[in-house]
Amino acid sequence: MSLDINAIRSQFPILETQVRNKKLVYFDNGATSQKPLRVINRISHYYLHENSNVHRGVHFLSQLATDAMEQAREKLVSFVHAESIEEIIFTKGTTESINLVAHSFGNRFVGAEDEIIISEMEHHANLVPWQFLCKDKGAKLRVIKTHDDGSLDLNHLQSLIGPKTRLISIAHVSNVTGVINPVEEVVKMAQDKGIFTLIDGAQASSHLQIDVQKLGCTFYVFSAHKMYGPMGVGVLYGQKAILEQMPPYQSGGEMIDRVCFSEETTFNVLPFKFEAGTPMVPEIIAFAEAIDFINEIGFEKIQQHEHELLSYATEKLLAIDGLKIIGTHAHKSAVISFVLQGLHPYDVGSLLDQMGFALRTGNHCAQPFIQRHGVSGTVRLSLAIYNTLEEVDLMVEALKKVKNMLS
Ligand code: PMP
Repeated sequence: MSLDINAIRSQFPILETQVRNKKLVYFDNGATSQKPLRVINRISHYYLHENSNVHRGVHFLSQLATDAMEQAREKLVSFVHAESIEEIIFTKGTTESINLVAHSFGNRFVGAEDEIIISEMEHHANLVPWQFLCKDKGAKLRVIKTHDDGSLDLNHLQSLIGPKTRLISIAHVSNVTGVINPVEEVVKMAQDKGIFTLIDGAQASSHLQIDVQKLGCTFYVFSAHKMYGPMGVGVLYGQKAILEQMPPYQSGGEMIDRVCFSEETTFNVLPFKFEAGTPMVPEIIAFAEAIDFINEIGFEKIQQHEHELLSYATEKLLAIDGLKIIGTHAHKSAVISFVLQGLHPYDVGSLLDQMGFALRTGNHCAQPFIQRHGVSGTVRLSLAIYNTLEEVDLMVEALKKVKNMLS
């Protein structure tokens, strides 16, 4: 059965919004996706009927909230094909997940002169925490070069791997270009040498099926808000054997087993060891609703639709004189970054905004990668399941107008 886009769009009331007296066309899904009503309603339902703190109450509401939260964790186990709930840690998002690993894994597994490998295309969230760790530990950061088409230079990666390499941390999908990295190959290269791996799945988790066991990565991280779920919640998947050896990241309630002044404090079991304090319970529960939304459509249909949008938009955009796409590699997810010769991306984005189009302009929190391509920034179109070919047509026409206005 083909996809009923109207039925999908009807679940997102915000798509009917007027912005600046124009109908909204939302192409900024890489920054955050919109949320279906079922996700929004799940949060209200929690506060109306279930609100209570989790894990520490014997009373009815506390058990209700705890059950709903832990069911969400189980849903995430299936979603990424983890082995058990011990491997799914709820965080605030991708950024916090990476910071957790940089601090805790870094504390236990990284020493002076060790090396961490990232790539040129990383989001600052998968770059700056490693810079901090390297500075703290006297370790070294190595950076994989990329080809002009936005893909990873695997030969360069091979040349960087050495006896001191502890971790390779790369994006599954680039947030600037949408290029899908060959993470299976990278993990295999790392595994052969006993090197740990972290995959930043922030731009992948709503577009690609994730199977962490098949992939074999040590860590996989992502954010709910980019996958039709609420803000303020994300996941750190980690292999249990490694998480068990890592010290807690933050301390306080929930992550504690026993505290007294005369003996050493002991910690809770996984995954709670890494979840200090009251978690974002309604967001976690509503995240499960977003997972249901994705699963009910299915990745096959999601990819089919997004691929059609991507091919169509790429063709239409390339027909505009002076437009250059940054990241032309064939293996791409639903993102297009472009520049228009002689025009500043900010001006293009601002005028498109006046016409009701939400696109992102700038360096996309990946300054070294933008510099590598010799531009000051790009205009980024990032697509989602509710976008349509008609919206692409509207945007292309608007872009032509913008070009005439600015030229
Ligand atoms: N990594 C990538 C590739 C991203 O695109 C983003 C968000 N733009 C992040 C990390 C950070 O995600 P969050 O802000 O949800 O923590």
